[in-house]
Amino acid sequence: MITKMFMVGKLLTNCYVAACPKTLQAIIIDPGFDSRREAEEIFNFIKENSLTPRFIVNTHGHPDHICGNGIVKEKFGIPILIHENDAQMLEEPGRKFAAKFGFNVITLPADALLHDGNTIKVGETTLKVMHTPGHSPGSICLIGDKEVFTGDTLFAGSIGRVDLPQSSESDMKHSLKKLANLPGYFTVYPGHGPTTTIEEEKQTNPFLLNWL
Ligand SMILES: [Zn+2]
Ligand SMILES: [Zn+2]
Repeated sequence: MITKMFMVGKLLTNCYVAACPKTLQAIIIDPGFDSRREAEEIFNFIKENSLTPRFIVNTHGHPDHICGNGIVKEKFGIPILIHENDAQMLEEPGRKFAAKFGFNVITLPADALLHDGNTIKVGETTLKVMHTPGHSPGSICLIGDKEVFTGDTLFAGSIGRVDLPQSSESDMKHSLKKLANLPGYFTVYPGHGPTTTIEEEKQTNPFLLNWL
């Protein structure tokens, strides 16, 4: 896949544009920007590379990953996809909660709900949905041929917080075990921070070393 990362928003969230190299169809993962200026950079990339966005996919429902959904949807008119367990975070109570923490959340409710094992077709490439609860009940990872988008489940050298009201440490352990079963050469594109690989994390990530 063609994968381009943009660091956006006040929590420095990684928003990704992932595209099929043959058909140039694309998805936009975690548009966590709350300003149209940040969105412009991404829209320019899409235009310059003649990409056709097909879906907005949220790795989970936290405001730093969803707050620009509405800006993207307004521009391209494409559906918003999120796991069913986090879908309520895109509804009015979730938006109010996010506003309390200073996020200017511009989103609409989900257009379709994702479940473990679903596949998202992007041109001739496919991303498989792996449900990885722990950081949030509806966290997912998106698995390609040799890459995985991990949201706030797995970072380079760390993992997402599990001390939040809807987090679960035991779910997180189970989810990390599932991720560790992916081939070591898989590139990990996390929701924050630098890119890594599954092998690198299995060898050096203290959470994986302690928990697996
Ligand atoms: Zn999060
Ligand atoms: Zn985050």
